[in-house]
Amino acid sequence: MYLIAQIALPVPLHQCFSYRLPQHMLERVRAGMRVRVSFGSRMLIGLVTGIETLDHAEPSLKLIEELLDDAPVLADPMLELGHFISQYYLQPLGEVLFHMLPSLLRQGQSSHRPTQSLWHPTALAHLSSAHDLRRAPRQWRALQILLEFPAGLSRQVAQLHGITVADLDNLVRRELAARTESHESLHEGASLLAEVPLTPSDEQAQAIACVRSQQGFGCHVLEGITGSGKTEVYLHLIADVLARGQQALVLVPEINLTPQTLQRFQQRFHVPMISLHSELGDRERLRAWHLIRSGQMRLIVGTRSALFCPMLNPGLMILDEEHDGSFKQQEGVRYHARDLAVYLASRQGIPIILGSATPSLETLNNALQGRYTHLQLHRRSNRSTPAQIIVQDIRGQELQAGLSSTSLVRIQEHLQRKQQVLVFLNRRGYATSVLCHDCGWRVHCPHCSVYPTLHQGIGRMLCHHCGWNCAVPQSCPDCNSTRLMATGTGTERLEQLLQSVAGTCPIWRMDRDSIPNHRVLEHTLAEIHQNQPGILIGTQMLVKGHHFHAVSLVVVVDTDAGLFSADFRSPERSLQRIHQVAGRSGRSTIQGQVILQTHDPEHPLLQCLIRSGYHAVAQIMLQERHQLNLPPYSYQALVHCQGRSSAEVQQFLLEIHTIFRLISPYGPVCAPIEKKAGVFRAHLLLQANGRPALHQQMANLPAVCKDKARHGIRWWIDVDPQDLL
Ligand code: ADP
Ligand code: ZN
Ligand code: ZN
Repeated sequence: MYLIAQIALPVPLHQCFSYRLPQHMLERVRAGMRVRVSFGSRMLIGLVTGIETLDHAEPSLKLIEELLDDAPVLADPMLELGHFISQYYLQPLGEVLFHMLPSLLRQGQSSHRPTQSLWHPTALAHLSSAHDLRRAPRQWRALQILLEFPAGLSRQVAQLHGITVADLDNLVRRELAARTESHESLHEGASLLAEVPLTPSDEQAQAIACVRSQQGFGCHVLEGITGSGKTEVYLHLIADVLARGQQALVLVPEINLTPQTLQRFQQRFHVPMISLHSELGDRERLRAWHLIRSGQMRLIVGTRSALFCPMLNPGLMILDEEHDGSFKQQEGVRYHARDLAVYLASRQGIPIILGSATPSLETLNNALQGRYTHLQLHRRSNRSTPAQIIVQDIRGQELQAGLSSTSLVRIQEHLQRKQQVLVFLNRRGYATSVLCHDCGWRVHCPHCSVYPTLHQGIGRMLCHHCGWNCAVPQSCPDCNSTRLMATGTGTERLEQLLQSVAGTCPIWRMDRDSIPNHRVLEHTLAEIHQNQPGILIGTQMLVKGHHFHAVSLVVVVDTDAGLFSADFRSPERSLQRIHQVAGRSGRSTIQGQVILQTHDPEHPLLQCLIRSGYHAVAQIMLQERHQLNLPPYSYQALVHCQGRSSAEVQQFLLEIHTIFRLISPYGPVCAPIEKKAGVFRAHLLLQANGRPALHQQMANLPAVCKDKARHGIRWWIDVDPQDLL
């Protein structure tokens, strides 16, 4: 009998590779461990995915060179998840599995839990007669410090006292100290709770009871308006899990939200917790991986990739703001963290909660169909009255930087009442384009098929798609006219206009240009939270999850943006955003007002949102999707393609279209931004009425694409695309 290992390698190939196992590895090797193998002319790190027995020798197969782990770095549920991602999203298994590991492990670093040295005073050290160190003052000092740490002194703490490892080892030689190695250990508080939990409202209690009543896996949609106390429901359920000694994972959309969420949890619980996000360094990430795998880290808050963290003893998963687009990974290994979280929870047999004030239509449909339980919170917890919504018809009105005179008067009124105002515009920069008033010429980006944005702050025109920039032109190159005009308002121009309205009140502009990093954001938020009167101007960065207690007026400048678009998901996103922005107003004791400026005041979706709320409008959108046979009533995938010329790209997709006629009803189309950074882009939509049908037909799609792609063509497949642009 001969043993062969199947190895997944981090290469863009849709297959595993067979290697022979040397005798001495037979006893130790298991699926999920890393090995070193030679592949072509290179040495690569691979992952064992399975072991097979053969009844004949296969001498042509190469031997595995080295086994890197004593225990699997990917436990069974994670390996299964990897197989699932590979099959469902048509991604090479090796790339998927390596994507799930911290980068230092991908590079071959040891997976042994790191230990740290501790020095303890010995019995001899406590006998004063033994302290004959008069001639060694350094060691004398070291001993005095050591005696203050009977439980052990670490290198780091010793260094704080000016003592080196050499000093401590000298004490060991004199038998005054003993050195031991131990794993990093985190301390839990004596009691689990750091504060008294709030008494749940009836609705909250019902939701909590419903999740508690189910054994094992269950997917629960928690739909609750902003301020209805979803977080409080999470906290109660997390407390259960922690009390049982298990771990809980909370996924949030933005890195910006992790500190805020973690802080809320630290207020409530005395257990070790951590936030995982893209700003962590490689070493910190590996340390976190060990602490989570050993079960010591009890509560984990993270962005989408935290899904892959190796919990030893998982008890609960929560996805907050589940509708948010950032749960979809759009680069490299493409997946939707929400859908994978549900899959993983079912493999692990634990409950998962998808929370949102504005659930995605996919999730809502699953809840309405009974696949997920549907928990609803209708009332705000802190007894504030919901905001008054005013639809403002701006047709024919004079606008200044996009704002009507009525809006400007209202803003002034609220500032005079010493309250804060939030002005929402999802466009950064000063103006969306610069054109010649006489001949119509526009500044355009030489590398992309879009107009660059005017940024007054840096005094340049900047392309948001490729980074190209140029000086603001003074005259038209076509007709020499100097009558150039900036059209389309961005947040910079809004800020300029509002300066005259604000008087001495501060203006906080929050977009990617004015808030370059984390620290600036925290600083700005801290200022806002002093609740002095002022104006907040912002893009969607401002909306996500932040609570502004002194805001009494919200103005949505361009309500119509997104209600009309080529992408069928655009109205859904746009209404979610309007609803979320509106929810920022009147959260405490003040009655809030929301002004929606629109050129289409009778828009049926907008009217429905205002009269009957998000849930009602979501149901109308679902009906529309049903009539048009769009997701979630049909299933889609996109083949994206990039190349040096439009013809080349079209040709490639046309060949794919011909072969996959059964599931590609429309043929190739140019991407809405056809040229980006000098590259031509197009895609082919694949669609079927059933998921199995689509997947069956697509089984050999990667192989066909690989076969048909000529030199210079880049392609990739996006299953369940969220973005048709
Ligand atoms: P959401 O996450 O749904 O936006 P939060 O959980 O942040 O809402 O709750 C909004 C506010 O209501 C918070 O200030 C919270 O402390 C308060 N709150 C939540 N639940 C209760 C409750 N049962 N009793 C009193 N106040 C509550
Ligand atoms: Zn001109
Ligand atoms: Zn460009």
